[in-house]
Amino acid sequence: MSLEIVTFILGPAQTNAYLVADSQTRDAAVIDPAWDGKLILAEAQKRGWRIAHLWYTHAHFDHIGGAAEIADALNPLPLVALHPDDHILWRAGGGGAYFGFDIDPGPEPTIDLVHGQILRLGSVQFEVRYTPGHTKGHCVFYVALEKVCFCGDLIFQNSVGRTDLPGGDWDTLENSIRTQIFSLPDETRLLSGHGPETTVAHEKMHNPFVGGK
Ligand SMILES: [Zn+2]
Ligand SMILES: [Zn+2]
Repeated sequence: MSLEIVTFILGPAQTNAYLVADSQTRDAAVIDPAWDGKLILAEAQKRGWRIAHLWYTHAHFDHIGGAAEIADALNPLPLVALHPDDHILWRAGGGGAYFGFDIDPGPEPTIDLVHGQILRLGSVQFEVRYTPGHTKGHCVFYVALEKVCFCGDLIFQNSVGRTDLPGGDWDTLENSIRTQIFSLPDETRLLSGHGPETTVAHEKMHNPFVGGK
């Protein structure tokens, strides 16, 4: 398989941005272009990768703050994918004003994510799983053949996404984790929106919020 993943930790919330590519075709996407888009762009250019897509797990400002800088440097513009239930949040600048950040949200999302949809990058297939609870339109991206899931702010190593911001709901979040994450193979790597990577097995055992059952 040819999926390559470059991880960046960027911005005021130390958000993980993932530059992903099919290294054979050099087609690339950014999952959550968190901040400092120029850094992500430079890395893609160094590797000879073409960024054609920006895929958002959700529309919080700290996950999309680098989108405008990336898009400004690309022609054609990258296509932006977001679940429709997060469009209101996107239009509101990702809720940044609440934290004192006024971001340029970049190009308008034109791909509506749907549960079960397959996003393609060269020969690599990403399955969209709808996982509300942290926000109304949160999704994760699962690459079955690589046993890896990009899970945004749904679940973290030994923690879970906060549910106290607008659109958050604890019962919904817990249900999303149990049905969409704990149903994946135990060895699946979870690449979260913040903090180090973990696995499904580790979180089933040790997560203090949803594990140990
Ligand atoms: Zn978030
Ligand atoms: Zn976040």
